[in-house]
Amino acid sequence: MRLALIAHDEKKPDLIEFAQNREDDLAHFDLTATGTTGKRLVDATDLDVERKQSGPLGGDMQIGAEIASEDCHGVVFLRDPLTAQPHEPDITALLRICDVHDVPLATNLASADAVLDELLYQLDVEFDPTE
Ligand code: PGA
Repeated sequence: MRLALIAHDEKKPDLIEFAQNREDDLAHFDLTATGTTGKRLVDATDLDVERKQSGPLGGDMQIGAEIASEDCHGVVFLRDPLTAQPHEPDITALLRICDVHDVPLATNLASADAVLDELLYQLDVEFDPTE
């Protein structure tokens, strides 16, 4: 099962902390990420992460293309809701294509845990939801 991880700059520390806290769970997935997010994840964890282009250079669209081909099964996208992004149209397109294909999408930390738990359940991996 393939999971995409993306975080805007202000949210990258949150995503790294999430990945470190849930590294064992994330290791069950085939992980992909936008360029800078992926580099930060690889530096901060032992996870194997396929890196796309950086978001502003088309990384969100590359992940969107995987979703359109039904090759990506979940997205954790920690957006920064307080900062305008130059690639806003790409971000909107990614959110839209997740909805078109009914792909679980988390846009904040609280829902990231929920989406990861649900995908683990689908993978039939035992996990402790109280952790
Ligand atoms: P980045 O892209 O991981 O390359 O910073 C994320 C984004 O801005 O969508």
